[in-house]
Amino acid sequence: MNLDIQTLFVMMLANVFTVSLALPALMGWRVSRAARFAQGSGLVQAIGWACFLVARALNDRLFSTLWIGCLGLSFVLLWRALELWLGPRPARGWLLPLALLTPLGYGLGFEHYAFRVGWSNFGLALLMMLVCLALVAPAPQGSWRWRGLILASVAALAGVTAWRGVLGAFFTELYPYLRAPHPVNVAAAVLNHVALTMTTIGALAAWREEAERELKFQAETDGLTGLMNRPAFLARAEDMLALARRHRDKLSLLLIDLDHFKQINDRGGHAAGDRALQLFAHALRLSLRRGDLVCRYGGEEFCVLLARSEPGARALFDARLRAALREQIRREEPQAPDFSFSAGGAVFDAQDDSLDALLRRADAALYRAKEGGRGRLVEDEGVPLLARVA
Ligand code: GH3
Ligand code: MG
Ligand code: MG
Repeated sequence: MNLDIQTLFVMMLANVFTVSLALPALMGWRVSRAARFAQGSGLVQAIGWACFLVARALNDRLFSTLWIGCLGLSFVLLWRALELWLGPRPARGWLLPLALLTPLGYGLGFEHYAFRVGWSNFGLALLMMLVCLALVAPAPQGSWRWRGLILASVAALAGVTAWRGVLGAFFTELYPYLRAPHPVNVAAAVLNHVALTMTTIGALAAWREEAERELKFQAETDGLTGLMNRPAFLARAEDMLALARRHRDKLSLLLIDLDHFKQINDRGGHAAGDRALQLFAHALRLSLRRGDLVCRYGGEEFCVLLARSEPGARALFDARLRAALREQIRREEPQAPDFSFSAGGAVFDAQDDSLDALLRRADAALYRAKEGGRGRLVEDEGVPLLARVA
């Protein structure tokens, strides 16, 4: 098989330029930050190869250095996209020094062919390895399919690049120039092709996964307060109840309704009401422990499910929440009128209680809290007297 290196090289360039334009055209510019980094990576790579093309004609040293700089930067941008998709990645501190030193050494040592080829290829190979490291480091939310795809292509590219570095630095006579018909160049040209396509497909899959995650989050979240919404809460509460039934745990449910909320709207307008809801949601978050569940149940009603709660847990939570709310109002809205809430508590007794029955009992208790003068917690009738706090 006689692969013509010139043709392969031209095809590779055509591929790079097409993909760098096709990606933003397909995805648009108004995408997530991660997706923008991925697009930027492709674009910078294309700019790098454009620099390579003009290097001979204009200023070899300058444009060749820019070429190496752009290639390095494109891996930095890819790494940043991965960080946003997968969460914090290891060896972040190596990224910038490598991306700067690689073109710098190349530019300064331009006159020494063996040095510049060795230096730049090792630098780029190390950057590629950082990308590989970012892909293999544990990330619970990233699927292995697209990570594997990008990993395989970038790892192969790193291998070929390091091989080029070794040839250029130590066996210079075997590797006189980038487009010499040496097997490493043929392999690199073919691999560049494949890697670019695979990385593009991988990035599109990562972007889709991100969009799915975002959609799921939005479907489960209340837009105003950022708390879980009612359907999502009910589904998770059923799971918690099943677990509690199995382990004979006690769970506490609290239904909370803000007092005289209409007055806040009437006095300060709907925006003031919205702010009060956000402030209350924040106080709720501050008062919860990990593993507890909270949602915006409806308009100005909230629901809390406390996991593994001991006797008195509801009263303690209620007191914590009242203190947090007072503190939030004092800090965030000192001018606004005070507001309070009523709560109805019920305990899940692990026998045969359903979520519906639990909610009904909490709702009845909440009704009595309102009747009893508001601003208080009332417990369900079934709860022992000791755990009851009015
Ligand atoms: P109480 O519960 O103490 O009996 O009195 P209340 O004034 O809170 O009574 P009610 O439950 O009838 O009123 C709830 C009000 O909450 C009515 C509605 O306009 C307001 N509300 C519900 N959702 C929102 C919202 O998203 N934003 C704002 N600003 N107001 C809301
Ligand atoms: Mg209400
Ligand atoms: Mg109310």
